[in-house]
Amino acid sequence: MSDTKHNWTKEEILEIYNKPLMELLYDAATIHRKHHDPNTVQVSTLLSIKTGGCPEDCGYCPQAARYHTNIEGNDLMSVQQVKAQALRAKASGSSRVCMGAAWRNVKDGAEFDEVLEMVRTINKLDMEVCCTLGMLTENQAHRLAEAGLYAYNHNLDSSEEYYKEVISTRGFEDRLETIDNVRKTNVTVCSGGIIGMGEKEEDRAGMLVALATLNPQPESVPINALVAVEGTPLEEQEPVSIWDMVRMVATTRIVMPETQVRLSAGRTDMSREGQAMCFFAGANSIFAGDKLLTTPNPDVNEDMEMFKLLGLNPQKPFIKKMQPETVEAADSQFQSLGEKPKWSRPDHTIERNEQAKEKAKTLR
Ligand code: SF4
Repeated sequence: MSDTKHNWTKEEILEIYNKPLMELLYDAATIHRKHHDPNTVQVSTLLSIKTGGCPEDCGYCPQAARYHTNIEGNDLMSVQQVKAQALRAKASGSSRVCMGAAWRNVKDGAEFDEVLEMVRTINKLDMEVCCTLGMLTENQAHRLAEAGLYAYNHNLDSSEEYYKEVISTRGFEDRLETIDNVRKTNVTVCSGGIIGMGEKEEDRAGMLVALATLNPQPESVPINALVAVEGTPLEEQEPVSIWDMVRMVATTRIVMPETQVRLSAGRTDMSREGQAMCFFAGANSIFAGDKLLTTPNPDVNEDMEMFKLLGLNPQKPFIKKMQPETVEAADSQFQSLGEKPKWSRPDHTIERNEQAKEKAKTLR
């Protein structure tokens, strides 16, 4: 049984966020080492399979059709193009490919069928596949699961209160509904947010409450620093300070101990020392590649040099499939139906997970 707490309050989270920094780092690093190998970082490659022309109005996003930004729009990529990019990502150390399409929601039809084929194709390369395609129905979530999807990304972006300041074309509850639809399958949930959009610390804590009180908690939580893009409503926002980023990562680690905390957008503005502090505070995943959908990201070689410098190793795929609660819930659901679980965790991944835990103990 997991000892993860699910009844966090905003006040408790704010208290953690505002601890003296050394104490916060120590607490976060201690929890991190209990649940993860501190020298392993999961590397994902984010691929924009359909860029620009989105009907939504997310204030931070250069892909919204209504804003005048410099990005070049593209129709849906072909399966062959995606396969070539996935092979390149695998060769440079990525264990996961995350495919993003600038859609409000998934529509059944030829394009969705193509995406399902992309999922099957990447799966055959022994890589984890993630998609971020907008809102999903339960049926679409099941179809993605059947194709072999490993994770679905759907960020909460901010607190429920601040969400409407940034996006008006859909509501916070729509986000939760899609996450709920994904949870009805064996696909893992990736959901986080962005800091630096003008929100207060209370909003940062509010977003973490929304994520940490989900049961199970998301398997992956990306923490993004806003990349203010010219032409978007948030173009004038000041860059996020590294101290805010470290505090946010550390607090996320403490309230969601089993989760993979993903250092996402904004890394180009962070020094190696700053990123090292984030890894110490519990970040254990990054996006690789020189672009994050449309915004800049450090070059893969730079990241690999940083890994060497810090003694970090890229994580192999399929090490950690699900939160313990998800495994238990899926197990009992299938048992009550008298069926065998449709998802599987190959034995060797459990073994690797155990090995990683053993190694982590020796490093404590
Ligand atoms: S964040 Fe996604 S949904 Fe929002 S405008 Fe950009 S592409 Fe569209």
